[in-house]
Amino acid sequence: MAPEIKYTKLFIDNEWVDAKSGKTFETRSPHDGAVIARVAEGDKADVNEAVKAARRAFHRNSEWRLMDASQRGRILNKFADLVERDAEYLGQLESYDNGMVLNLAQLVTGSAGKSIRYIASLADKIQGDTIPIDGEAFSYTLKQPVGVCGLILPWNFPIAMFLNKVMTALAAGCTVVIKPAEQTPLTALALAALLKEAGVPKGVVNVINGYGETAGVALTHHPHVAKISFTGSAEVGKLIQQAAGARNLKRVTLELGGKSPLVVMDDADLNLAVPYAAHGVFSHQGQVCVAASRLYVQSTIYDKFVEAAVNFAKSIKVGNPTDATVQQGPQVDEEMMNKVLGYIERGKKEGAKLMTGGKRVGSTGFFIEPTVFAGVSDDMTIAKEEIFGPVQSILKFDTLEEVIDRANDTNYGLAAGIFTTNINTALQFTKHVEAGVVWVNTYLFTGPQCPFGGVKDSGYGRENGIQSVDPYLEVKTVTVALPKKL
Ligand code: NAD
Repeated sequence: MAPEIKYTKLFIDNEWVDAKSGKTFETRSPHDGAVIARVAEGDKADVNEAVKAARRAFHRNSEWRLMDASQRGRILNKFADLVERDAEYLGQLESYDNGMVLNLAQLVTGSAGKSIRYIASLADKIQGDTIPIDGEAFSYTLKQPVGVCGLILPWNFPIAMFLNKVMTALAAGCTVVIKPAEQTPLTALALAALLKEAGVPKGVVNVINGYGETAGVALTHHPHVAKISFTGSAEVGKLIQQAAGARNLKRVTLELGGKSPLVVMDDADLNLAVPYAAHGVFSHQGQVCVAASRLYVQSTIYDKFVEAAVNFAKSIKVGNPTDATVQQGPQVDEEMMNKVLGYIERGKKEGAKLMTGGKRVGSTGFFIEPTVFAGVSDDMTIAKEEIFGPVQSILKFDTLEEVIDRANDTNYGLAAGIFTTNINTALQFTKHVEAGVVWVNTYLFTGPQCPFGGVKDSGYGRENGIQSVDPYLEVKTVTVALPKKL
């Protein structure tokens, strides 16, 4: 049964409102392409209202600014309780709007409480330093919230991305305007309702659904937005960085795409490496920023590995995301499905060997067969561009030195992985690979305690971990005259 859709409007000042233009847009189920709701379509006028509300809530005399930091943490903990209460419903809604297999959606919502509580615990641990300086003075620093933050979300993990950004901004004491991705607006609205129920004062959290070119652009150009945190494509990330400097100087955190290398050495345990490599690229239909989309296998085991990888891919069950036995659901929409199928055609045309898959599944919904290419070389499009689909590209290498250079020969630098039983190999690789996250003998394994983010064109700034609040804070240095003699 389809989950109930309770919220479809914009959320400003703790109220549900229509867009000023009266416009709405459709959100569809990736499973069968059917329209599941019409959602208010916010644009510049609505962003202006939301930023005004967020500014009022950030005024030095507001309830939020005067609130004890421990109380802020308590509200976020209460929110964690509510997310846990509604975890099953939120998982169903995520799966319905996004096409994520229900098992994965439930895993995300089931562990959300732990992530929220981790960040909530940082709220009352934000503190400055006292600094000895020369002369008759002493200095101390205050760490203060940066102001109104614009948080722009992607469609691939709507709940997880909402929580990463919103919790950290609120723990730091900021106020926020959130723009969910137009493909998946529903869970952000449900979470906003829970934040209100948890006791977040009005204006602290606002949600404007809408398109990137209208609502997103308005937010990134707004002179009263102090910071933008964005997760999405590298292409849009670059536009956001430019926009952020156009009117005022916004602080920017960018979590962007990747073309992450996973290396399998010939001493690796293939009983681990084969399933992890598959999990790394086929999970969530390949719509994962850290997808292991360049799989480098040492030449001595290459043929054996390819055979096992093909068998694994063939065993993956594709179908209705709400079926608990299904491992792979639909791509998020028709556009993304066609984009991925286009990459598969490019792969074939450029000479990669299609070992299995490669086609759309059925004609309803946006499903693609788990696809494996062998004989892939570094100059092929499928080895260079982010596909964001269930496509495993297997490349061959001879030595560790060679594979490190080839792994780094990309503008991206989000994640990397290696399977080996040799500790020196693992340590050399982790030291020299250019990535923000590196896994050894595992993949896609993380927790709220682990900083997450990229280097090079995969962005900058880190979410999660103790330092995650820092980008939402400004350091103010205060120097006080203190004559040595009374
Ligand atoms: P996208 O860049 O197309 O869109 C992301 C968001 O930006 C959406 O809300 C969209 O409406 C908005 N947007 C689009 N144009 C804009 C503009 N000019 N100004 C302001 N906002 C604008 O990305 P997507 O297709 O939704 O998400 C997939 C991408 O996200 C992939 O590249 C993936 O790797 C990346 N991603 C990265 C991480 C990470 O943590 N590094 C996590 C998840 C996804």
